[in-house]
This record gives sequence, C-alpha cells and structure tokens, in this order.
Amino acid sequence: LAKRIDGKQVSSQVLAEVSEAVQQLQQQGIQPGLAVVLVGEDPASQVYVRNKVLRAAEVGIRSIEHRLPADTDESSLLALIETLNQDPQVNGILVQLPLPAAIDENRVLEAIDPLKDVDGFHSQNVGGLSQGREVLTPCTPAGCMRLLRQTCGELSGLHAVVVGRSNIVGKPMAALLLQADCSVTLVHSRSRDIERLCRDADILVAAVGRPQMIKRDWIKPGAVVIDVGINRIQADTGTRLVGDVDYDDVYDQAAAITPVPGGVGPMTIAMLMQNTLTAARMQLG
Ligand code: NAD
Repeated sequence: LAKRIDGKQVSSQVLAEVSEAVQQLQQQGIQPGLAVVLVGEDPASQVYVRNKVLRAAEVGIRSIEHRLPADTDESSLLALIETLNQDPQVNGILVQLPLPAAIDENRVLEAIDPLKDVDGFHSQNVGGLSQGREVLTPCTPAGCMRLLRQTCGELSGLHAVVVGRSNIVGKPMAALLLQADCSVTLVHSRSRDIERLCRDADILVAAVGRPQMIKRDWIKPGAVVIDVGINRIQADTGTRLVGDVDYDDVYDQAAAITPVPGGVGPMTIAMLMQNTLTAARMQLG
C-alpha cells in the first residue's frame, strides 16, 4: 500500500479505460459527444473548460464548446440547453459554474436532460443517488470513491467522516459512502466537537476550503485521508496550493493520504469523461 495516493496515476488509468471503451463504441459507428457551455469570461472557468475539452479529445470524445457573452440572458441559455437536449450527437451537457449573477443557476441546471447531466447536479440525479439508483453522480466525489476503492478495497462497515456539506462535494460524497455500506458521519461549520468526530474516522474526506485546517491529532492512526480542498496560500516562494489537511503533519499518522495538488484534483476531469461515456451508454439503452 503506497502511502501517498497518486491521483495522477489513477486518473490516467480511468482515462485509459474510457478511451478503450470509446474506441469500441466507435467501431459500432458511435462517438460520444460532450457539450461544454461557458457564459462570460471568468479566467478560472476558461482554464477549466479548456482542460475539459483537451481531455475529451485525448480519449476520443467529441466536444463542442459553446461560449456565450457575460450579458447572455437566461432565456437564450435555456434555449441553447433545449437544443442540446434534443441533439442526438450530444450525450453530455456541462454548464460551467458559476454563472453570471443575473442567471438563475438552479433553473439552468434543472433544464438539462437528466440523462445528459454529466455533472450530476439535476435534482432527479441527486434524488436517484440518495435512493441508491444508478444515476450520473457528481465528478469530484465519484473520483474520491475511485481513489478509496483502489486504496482500501472493500469499504463495507468502515466509519467514514466527511467534513463539509456542499451540494457539489460533501453531500454527494456522504451518499456514495453510504451506498458503499460505510457508516457515515457528515460534519460542517456548525458541528460541535469536530476533532473528536474526525478522530473516530477510518476514512476522512475533507471538503471545506480552509487551508491545512485538519491536523495530526484529528486523525486516527491508520486512517485513510482524502483531501478535496484546493486553497492558494502565500508562501516564501510566491503562492502555492494546499489542501484542507496539513499534509506534512498528518502524513505519519495516516495509512494513506492524497496530496494537493496531484490527489483528488486530476480525478475530477477523468470522472467527467467516464460520466460522458456512461451517459452515451444510457442513451443507447
Ligand atoms: P463550499 O464552500 O461550498 O462548502 C464548504 C463546506 O465546509 C460547507 O458545508 C461548510 O459547512 C463547511 N465548513 C466551513 N468551515 C468549516 C469548519 N471550520 N469546520 C467544518 N466545516 C466547515 O465548498 P466546496 O465547493 O464543497 O469545496 C470545498 C473545497 O474543495 C474547496 O477548497 C474547493 O476549492 C475544493 N474543491 C475541489 C474540487 C476538485 O478537486 N476538483 C472540486 C470541488 C471543490
């Protein structure tokens, strides 16, 4: 068991699997397609979209980029989504968040055909996940599950503690762990005695957005630690990225731990490609 969980390596493995499956579909004359919609010019969003399009090309998924100006109104965006819903060449639809403030994000996400909802944010998919049905699930927690399965093998019966209850990471993460038969504790900014709760975790997943908040004495010896946090901090040599876990402090205490960067980060895009493939298969029946 390697102590440092290598998200780069596991994500390459996922991408290789997707690429092989896409090639098989292509032999039947089918090429999965992913539509990526970006509204406005947020620099971080532009980078994310570019990376998604590049990864898609690498695995043989056709991607179609739709760039709309920042002042796009909600009805034109909804009209585009309806067109993409109807387009049989489009298997996955991803709307890059955040959207400009004038647009109701929830209304837009709900307009996406749940079978094409590769981010897994549609209420029908959220509900399906909570009922344990096979649905498209959010990419970051799905990536964490893949890392955990590869690290721990069987997860059944383990106590997992998830720190953070966002709709994008914390809540779906808790649902996936529950589906894997873990006992799940979900803690958040209002939780009391959070350190004690974390110290009882066999699996600790941190999705908070607070640099190096989780220290050595929060970790049960031998726990597996998954750090979703991506925080930019000021260092002597300029800025650098750190997680929600104090990696160096926790390293000796944990059985295995994801680094930041190079842990959960690369898994998210890989799972997006996996979801696009899954969506294409679901639409083919
Ligand atoms: P969010 O801000 O939506 O949610 C943060 C959660 O942390 C909230 O539920 C809040 O209750 C909880 N929280 C805040 N302060 C806390 C405290 N002191 N103690 C306990 N809980 C506390 O954030 P998010 O979207 O879930 O993202 C969390 C982190 O993960 C961020 O650093 C983000 O950049 C990162 N992230 C990474 C990926 C990726 O790797 N691809 C994807 C999404 C988010």
